[in-house]
Amino acid sequence: MHEVLIIGGGPAGLTAAMYCRMRKMSVRVVDAGRPGGQLVSLYGDKPVHDWPGYHHIIAGELAGQLVEHARQLEVEIAPNRNVTALVRVEDGFDVASRDVVTGDEGRDRSASVIVAIGGGAFEPRRLKVAGEEALDEDSLTYRMPDRSRAAGRDVVVVGGGDSGLESAQSARQAGARVTIVQVLERFTGMESNIDLVNDLGIPRRFNTRIKGLEIENGRLRALIAQTKGESEPARLPCDYLVVNIGAAVNLDAVKQWGIEVEGNQIKVDGHMRTSVEGVFACGDIVTYDGKYKLLLTASSEGCVAANSAYLHVRKPARVTMGDLYT
Ligand SMILES: Cc1cc2nc3c(=O)[nH]c(=O)nc-3n(C[C@H](O)[C@H](O)[C@H](O)COP(=O)(O)OP(=O)(O)OC[C@H]3O[C@@H](n4cnc5c(N)ncnc54)[C@H](O)[C@@H]3O)c2cc1C
Repeated sequence: MHEVLIIGGGPAGLTAAMYCRMRKMSVRVVDAGRPGGQLVSLYGDKPVHDWPGYHHIIAGELAGQLVEHARQLEVEIAPNRNVTALVRVEDGFDVASRDVVTGDEGRDRSASVIVAIGGGAFEPRRLKVAGEEALDEDSLTYRMPDRSRAAGRDVVVVGGGDSGLESAQSARQAGARVTIVQVLERFTGMESNIDLVNDLGIPRRFNTRIKGLEIENGRLRALIAQTKGESEPARLPCDYLVVNIGAAVNLDAVKQWGIEVEGNQIKVDGHMRTSVEGVFACGDIVTYDGKYKLLLTASSEGCVAANSAYLHVRKPARVTMGDLYT
């Protein structure tokens, strides 16, 4: 029986776990993949510029430091376990998980739960053009491009939000010839990302939609792109396609756990309490007035969730943050 069971080992879950250990609570983190969350699964090579104390730090390295910090505080981390069920029992919660490699089922008992599943079970949005499904990862990715694969190749990045803009920068810096294709008439990412793409002089096509793929012997050769107002589609040479057009979140599991959701997010209050007493949530999966989906806010909410779990489990007569300063 743990005092706190944390579902998800991204920045939110790992910070929550560290704070639980600062409060000397027993804690276990269960993650469906590798701990580190999006830092490792989506953009391991990318520099992060907004983590305090570092002018910049490579995402994979930051994830490694978060995991190491948690391990030094004796956080128990169970990777490759997908949490499938969460049920209230007399003394807390019964949490079922499945090993994603072996399929083995497991159960954990815990007095409280922190849900920190980020995007949850999310599926990247696809272009929905013929041939897409058959391309392998050397020709197509829905994440950031692999820099070693991108070098020297014709890369087209579809998507003009932050992910697309960062993918384009990364591929260009790795030595690729890069074009950005955006369905809207402008980029939708942050100004700083747009400036960086402009500084690198990366060509772009606005108001443009990918209509087809030119594939030869299983290898991608070019894209057929239609720009609004032009009579003929254009042929864009491309042997490495990067599609960053968002993800469709599936919260069916969370709804089965009985937690109230709003849109694709779990509703929380300022204490990171969900609609279920004893279940807290933090990070990208939560919504509240003024929410930002950032590393720093994810970690900050993890700290709040851990302190709320501490109040729920230990019920101290008095709580001070001063205990944590020594
Ligand atoms: C391309 C890109 C670049 C970004 N760059 C920046 C940046 O420079 N600065 C910044 O501040 N933010 C950036 N972000 C946003 C930032 O990465 C997220 O806000 C942050 O990762 C959220 O942390 P989290 O812990 O809530 O979720 P995540 O990082 O998504 O971690 C959630 C974890 O939960 C696990 N999980 C999910 N479902 C289950 C389940 N059922 N059972 C068990 N485990 C589960 C997942 O495996 C994952 O490890 C970027 C995002 C992207 C996509």
